[in-house]
Amino acid sequence: MSINRPAFSGAGIERFAGLRQLPEALAAAWAESGTRFVPVWQSRCLVRDGFVVDCRREELEVVSAGYETMVFLGRREGRALFAVGLRGETPPAGLPPSAFIGLREIASQVSEADAALLAYARAMILWQERHRHCGVCGAPNQPAEGGFVMVCSDAACAQRCFPRIDPAVIVLVHRGEHCLLGRQASWPEGRFSTIAGFVEPGESLEEAVVREVHEETNIEVADASYIASQPWPFPAALMLGFHATACSSDIRLNDGELVEARWLSRADILNREVLLPPPISIAWRLIESWFDQVPGPRLASLASDWRNAGSPRG
Ligand SMILES: [Zn+2]
Repeated sequence: MSINRPAFSGAGIERFAGLRQLPEALAAAWAESGTRFVPVWQSRCLVRDGFVVDCRREELEVVSAGYETMVFLGRREGRALFAVGLRGETPPAGLPPSAFIGLREIASQVSEADAALLAYARAMILWQERHRHCGVCGAPNQPAEGGFVMVCSDAACAQRCFPRIDPAVIVLVHRGEHCLLGRQASWPEGRFSTIAGFVEPGESLEEAVVREVHEETNIEVADASYIASQPWPFPAALMLGFHATACSSDIRLNDGELVEARWLSRADILNREVLLPPPISIAWRLIESWFDQVPGPRLASLASDWRNAGSPRG
């Protein structure tokens, strides 16, 4: 089974990871006239007129500090791209704060490739900002290897840490003609979505699916089939999407994470008995790939109704 590429992937960037360990090559890429810089300020990205702004070096004074302070993202259409974290209460002169927009807001306004580029740049900058000190000895960390390693500045320690991603399972549970959707108290009124939760140390993805579904809804699932994944950079989740077949039907909200869970038929969904998550979310795609398994209306025909229905779970 295949589903469309989820949001926040498909940036069209070739990462050239081998260059990260070659300082001269990084310096040369940084110095090319065509190189562009993607600023991130307070977790927000620069957008103008619906386009992502990747700045020329003359637009960003901080660029003169050199490639060592930046993240080498790779190349897109031949151009080298570096992410630049902007510090301070206000962005640099000439860049109004209002031009910096949150990733969730941007996602539906820019191309999929640009949304993925910004998610990548923002995730790297956010990770660096949250790892300014060594977790072992507390000394300041310094970025290295194109920004993909934070290295302890105490030579006796020299601890290295790497970009962090938090795996989470997200699962569409089905049983006969029905699927299982749940609702968190913080979501918009009427919004239901698939079951999700972080993978814990010492368990497989399949075990996490079984545990999360049982914790949240009391439902037992038999099999778990991997469908697709989606980076969910709020701040660093990787959503691993599954379908699972239920072998029980008695819903109980065991851990209180959900305020309601329901079995819904395709007819219930067509009748809009619940508000689904937005189409940019993998939750939508998981529901869609189940919904569309039978002849009849496609879930995509309902998508426009949800296009601007608020921010997805995460
Ligand atoms: Zn250290």
